Amino acid sequence: MRILITGAAGFLGSHLADRFLSDGHEVVGMDNLITGNLENIAHLADEPRFEFVEHDVTQFIDVQGELNGVLHFASPASPVDYLELPIQTLKVGSLGTHNALGLSLAKGARFLLASTSEVYGDPLVHPQPESYWGNVNPIGPRGVYDEAKRFAEAMTTAYRRYHGVDTRTVRIFNTYGPRMRPGDGRVVSNFIVQALLGHGLTVYGDGSQSRSFCYVSDEVEGIYRLFNSNEPHPVNIGNPDEYTVGQLAELIQALVNPDVGVTYLPLPTDDPKVRKPDITRARTLLGWEPLVSLDEGLRSTVAYFRSLQERGALKPPPVLTEDAEDAR
Ligand code: UDP
Repeated sequence: MRILITGAAGFLGSHLADRFLSDGHEVVGMDNLITGNLENIAHLADEPRFEFVEHDVTQFIDVQGELNGVLHFASPASPVDYLELPIQTLKVGSLGTHNALGLSLAKGARFLLASTSEVYGDPLVHPQPESYWGNVNPIGPRGVYDEAKRFAEAMTTAYRRYHGVDTRTVRIFNTYGPRMRPGDGRVVSNFIVQALLGHGLTVYGDGSQSRSFCYVSDEVEGIYRLFNSNEPHPVNIGNPDEYTVGQLAELIQALVNPDVGVTYLPLPTDDPKVRKPDITRARTLLGWEPLVSLDEGLRSTVAYFRSLQERGALKPPPVLTEDAEDAR
């Protein structure tokens, strides 16, 4: 197969490119590099089955030749980024998804949308099955991402119903691992980088809010299986092991540096209080479930950030503060 991955220089996009290449497929990787990083695909420079195109998918997408699949992963994905880039976030989820679907239709290619657990917002149902419609504030600071992805799901479904495009939708839950940007701003990278630098871990709120963290190799395997399945409806891919943010801080302190403390900051507006995927569908339809424990996954992620630290590439990560939100 020859497939296009948008957001291919990003964290998940680059791992997916590796997954398709390792099975012998050809990959066209596209990215506008606003949050992507060419270093994530530097190891593919001499790979004849990989081609990189720098392009903003909110503009018409022109790819020469046959395409069998389009995986739409382009988007800022960290709350810090989408607060910084609200309009680009809305545009890539709406115009970018429309362009990527139009390309799939023109090429007769299967389309896979990278959606998110954020479509459930601050959920009133726990854990979250795919049948839950969510609790999203459209005009809150996170609305730019949540609503863009909800629109993207609606547009993907419309292309399936109206144009008969062969579509897949994955709802991705908090994923972590090597190639996350040290300055990404999300909790796993923030805590690890802060601990490595000997700084206090910035816990937002009292740390009682929960997340369920999925290691990147598990996430990519689930997405790969979904792409190759016949399932047109959304499927949650995430690890149902749930931790509070406070527990995560303790785990990272113990792994990296027991001497670093915790700095408490205000809980950001609309920060979901709980999140945990119901993965019954993925288990049943794809025979998939996560294999990597949080302890094991954190160890490899810490090793990755240590290697960046040895190259002098770590600085204090960005934090989300109410002041920063009010200023916008
Ligand atoms: N969080 C935190 N400190 C940080 C970054 C995030 O306490 O430095 C919290 C955040 O408030 C949220 C959870 O960690 O409750 C996960 O945040 P993240 O930005 O990683 O992803 P989200 O699931 O909110 O999109």
